[in-house]
Parts: sequence; C-alpha cells; structure tokens
Amino acid sequence: MRKIDDLSFEELKDAMLKIGEPKFKASQIFGWIHNKTVDSFDDMTNVSQKTKAELKLEYEFTKAVIELKLKSEMDETKKYVIKFEDGNIVESVYLKYKFGNTACISSQVGCKMGCHFCASTKNGFRRDLSPSEMLKQIYLIQKDINEKISNVVIMGSGEPLENFDNVVKFLDIINDERGQNISMRKITLSTSGIVPNIYRLADVNIPITLAISLHAATQEKREQIMPIARKYKLNEILKACDNYVETTGRRLTFEYIMIKGFNDTREDAEMLSKLLKNKLANINLIPCNYVKEANTKPSGDLDIMKFKKILTDNGINATVRRELGSDINAACGQLRNELLKM
Ligand code: SAH
Repeated sequence: MRKIDDLSFEELKDAMLKIGEPKFKASQIFGWIHNKTVDSFDDMTNVSQKTKAELKLEYEFTKAVIELKLKSEMDETKKYVIKFEDGNIVESVYLKYKFGNTACISSQVGCKMGCHFCASTKNGFRRDLSPSEMLKQIYLIQKDINEKISNVVIMGSGEPLENFDNVVKFLDIINDERGQNISMRKITLSTSGIVPNIYRLADVNIPITLAISLHAATQEKREQIMPIARKYKLNEILKACDNYVETTGRRLTFEYIMIKGFNDTREDAEMLSKLLKNKLANINLIPCNYVKEANTKPSGDLDIMKFKKILTDNGINATVRRELGSDINAACGQLRNELLKM
C-alpha cells in the first residue's frame, strides 16, 4: 500500500481523479494531512465515508512515534528519538531561537559519509527516509511542544543530497500553503558537498539556504576528516556553490566546526579567508561537539574568538553558533548510538 502522506499536492490531485473524485477534494484532504496533521482517514470529519473508504483501499498513513524525549536543563532544547514502522530510529531536535521555533530533522537512518568527527555515521547507513518520515518529525515535535515550527534545518543525521528526490518532495510539501506553509527562506539544508546534486538543487530553483560543511580550508586537510572530500574536491564544491548563488540569488552558509589543534590556528583562518574572499556567504563557526567514538575536542573560546576576528578583519562574514542543549547530547547521532548499544 502507498503512503498517502508521501504525496505532493499535485500527486494527490491525480490520485483523487483516479478514484473518480473531483479535484477540489484534494485540497481538503491535503489540509487534513499536512495542516491539521491527522494520523488517520477517520479523523477527517468533513470527508464523506465513501471517499475515505476508497482512499483506504489504496493508501495508508506513515506511522512514527516519539520513542524517547530528553529536555535540556540549560535551555528549551528538546531532543527526540523517533521510531518508524520498521523499527528504525532517528534523532530530531527542537531548538528555540529568538527568530523562531526550529526543528532539526534527519534525512536518512545513519549515514554513509563517514566524517571522522560525526556520531551519525558511526553505525553505518541503514536507509533513506521517505518524504513523510521527514514531515512526521516536524509534526510530532509540533504536537509535543504545542506550538508551530517556523524554521527547519536539515542537519540531523544523513546526507540530504544523497536522498535528493525525497528531500525535494519533502520541501515541496512542507512549503505548500495548504499544509504547513513554511517559507523556503526559513529552511536550511546542510550538505557535506555532493557536487552534482548541488547543481541539481540550483536547477530546481528552490530558494532555501544551502549550508556547506566545509570544516577545513584546504583539500588536503579536508580529506583527513571527511572521506567524501576525496570524491568531491574543494574547488569543485566552490564552483557548484557559485553556480547556486548565481541561479538562486541566495546567500550561502559555510559551516566550519572548530576542532582543537586541528583547524583552529591563525594560518587556518588566513587560508579560509582567502578561500572565501568575495563570496556571497556567511561562515558559521561551530565549536565541535565531543563525540566519544571520534576523540575530537572543541577549540577553546579564546581560539574561536581570535579565529573569528581574523576572518572579520579580512572582510568575511563570520558568526559563532550558540551551543544549545549540550547537556542532552543535542549533536546528532550520539543518542541513537547509545540506544543501539543497549
Ligand atoms: N550530512 C550533512 C548534514 C548533516 S550534519 C552535512 O554533512 O552537512 C549537520 C552538521 O553537523 C554538519 O555541518 C556536520 O559536519 C556537523 N557535525 C557533525 N558532527 C559534529 C560534531 N561532532 N560537532 C559539531 N558539528 C558536527
């Protein structure tokens, strides 16, 4: 059986026509699924029994539950372990920022990228998430906090550009005005740099914010911590980024996790400045989260400040990401790893 909540509005319209129902009913049903976020056909109170019976013959709802929830004692961050029908679990995080309620969602179960510092990849890759499994993470968080999510970051576990079609479908549905109506400008997608799919993303021209996990200023250093860097070279990534900016007119974000003694020296900052000179971009400095399996430690506050000053003095827009929920392992994948060991 197909999942009704995986259908974009256009697909739902076609599905309704196929069962002999008028197109206008698709808006109503799409609204029940993606605006009111019901979990079953029976909850659609103003839809006729006949229509519901016809839909039930071919479609069902994606099931997902909150398996575990951790609340930060330091701020309002909440971390969720969400379980799908096949028993697979992913992590999602709720972050309260001044600019809005943000959901950080996963795009895959596990990850293939193998980045040395990242917990999500330590147990390997299981499978892609479907569009509805990404949507469900947001809907479940919304129900739990009893407030609307206004911003989404695809920065949980997984490489979203390796799950391209499902992610694009997810973006289409979450943005639909009949559903959650979350503006593309309030969505950030983070990638380790899958070059061909950065071009594809520019082609579909969805004006989200693209964030590139840079983490090192040279090809050689990047390869030391990110195996995917051998396949997609730094200069190719930057070329794809230039194309993205030209096509979409959107500013990019470069993420740079700061690892003590590895990429946080004056020389690193100078090289990074050169690399990003004259780019329409913001660089986000992120003290790396300690991951047991990786043995990487965050740079000291003073080193981060000095690093940022060098970038700013060189005319590069740099910000330091405020750390939220560090007491509940908010960095992705860490909690799942602990659970998988049990
Ligand atoms: N695969 C995508 C998106 C998921 S990771 C990507 O690589 O961008 C989201 C961000 O968290 C990435 O920038 C990733 O490099 C970063 N990250 C992973 N492990 C981290 C850690 N231990 N500390 C801080 N950031 C980390």
